Amino acid sequence: MKIAVLKERAPNEARVAASPETVKKLIALGADVTVEAGAGVSASVTDDAFTAAGATIAKDAAATVDGADIILKVQRPLGAGEGAVDELALLKSGQVVIGALAPFGDHVPALAASGVTAFAMEFVPRITRAQVMDVLSSQANLAGYRAVIEAAAAYARVFPMMMTAAGTVAPAKTFIMGVGVAGLQAIATARRLGGVVSATDVRPATEEQVASLGAKFIAVKDEEFAQAQTSGGYAKEMSDGYKAKQAALVAEHIAKQDIVITTALIPGRKAPTLVTAAMVQSMRPGSIIVDLAAEQGGNCELTKPGKVIEKHGVTIIGTLNLPSKVSADASALYARNLLAFLTPLIDKETKSLKIDEADEIVKASLIAKGGAVVHPNLLPKG
Ligand code: NAD
Repeated sequence: MKIAVLKERAPNEARVAASPETVKKLIALGADVTVEAGAGVSASVTDDAFTAAGATIAKDAAATVDGADIILKVQRPLGAGEGAVDELALLKSGQVVIGALAPFGDHVPALAASGVTAFAMEFVPRITRAQVMDVLSSQANLAGYRAVIEAAAAYARVFPMMMTAAGTVAPAKTFIMGVGVAGLQAIATARRLGGVVSATDVRPATEEQVASLGAKFIAVKDEEFAQAQTSGGYAKEMSDGYKAKQAALVAEHIAKQDIVITTALIPGRKAPTLVTAAMVQSMRPGSIIVDLAAEQGGNCELTKPGKVIEKHGVTIIGTLNLPSKVSADASALYARNLLAFLTPLIDKETKSLKIDEADEIVKASLIAKGGAVVHPNLLPKG
């Protein structure tokens, strides 16, 4: 059983889907692991480190995936014209591809057409057994941390209160919008830096979490708020009435903030607009907004995904893929998530792939097989 680890070729992607630690464990499961030359370099893992862990280094993408049973990726395989290599063209029918495949994207039919069995890690259900496989959490946690670091670096003032002989410097007032995994880590990081932190979310369960991290909770607490969490733990899309009340409260609060970090997402939908152009204008010059939802269109109306811009004296950071900016740790955690996902798919006796399609995790994450898109959420309604 050959497991291939491709170098990532998407723009601004520095992570890699395996680490020396996971390579050793995959070999212990009975696999041969081939890593493309240079795949780990941008995540501080040399070819030598992979070799020392027992991997074979292949000279290019084609040699890496040739004869592979399983291909590990961070991002989806790119097609013709999307990157330096047409990765889709290298795939063979029946190969298993595992990665954060962005399952709601337009590229899924082309991936399915290659005949691979594709697992999207984003669809792994949030059940206890699958926590160790949860790439959304492992990466969002790092993104939340890094968002605060980006804000601190762009801010021409400081985070902590400083009492000096030359006078007192006020602490940065920091507002976190959306208190999921990324938001919680952003609160913790901003607090560690000495900021005065407040946060908002539409899910009532977050109020206690915000308080436990020493931050102030700000929200419209009406009847809709009390019902705003789905059974899966995610936020529901809120009514226009709620959004208007929320916007009024946020408008008043945001005008007094120095740093705003937005992380609000609704799975499979465009990110909700929480910060309007007028709100940006109300902030004092030198303030910073980091929009972690930029990839899904952004929570701030003025965000330009992938860009850092200045509007009304406010810097709006729409940098994509913040986990990639801490690529070494992000890769190490991501690689462990993949190892945990892959381990139950390998038969201990025969040391070959044995996929139980009745398994809850397999069912939820399998998006393509036998040349077709198979996930119910990705098929046309009806
Ligand atoms: P996410 O990335 O989908 O969204 C980020 C946050 O934005 C969420 O807290 C959401 O409630 C919030 N949000 C959405 N619309 C908003 C709006 N209009 N205004 C303000 N906030 C808004 O969330 P996530 O980080 O993936 O976490 C979602 C939930 O899943 C949480 O309850 C989290 O604790 C839970 N979770 C469970 C597991 C597990 O059981 N294995 C693992 C990770 C997360």
